[in-house]
Amino acid sequence: MAFLLRLLVWALAFYAAWKWLRGLFQRWIQADPRFRVRSTQRDQPPLSGHMHKDPVCGMYVADESAISQKHLGTLYYFCSSECREKFISQGR
Ligand SMILES: [Zn+2]
Repeated sequence: MAFLLRLLVWALAFYAAWKWLRGLFQRWIQADPRFRVRSTQRDQPPLSGHMHKDPVCGMYVADESAISQKHLGTLYYFCSSECREKFISQGR
């Protein structure tokens, strides 16, 4: 029984340490300018209208900033003309 109790205490200690380290890591990421750009982009409220997923790079683009292209009867939205060209050249 004493063994189980000690195991439980260790598990709790590890859990607390893990949570603390994760909090520290997240704060470090937010402070790092390399990650800040991405996180502010993500935190931005979506622009008015719909968000569409770029099938090439997987990025979400708003109606007004998206480049749309009708392909095989379906309308696709792209973040940039590069992605659109890539999509067309792949012939999907
Ligand atoms: Zn894209």
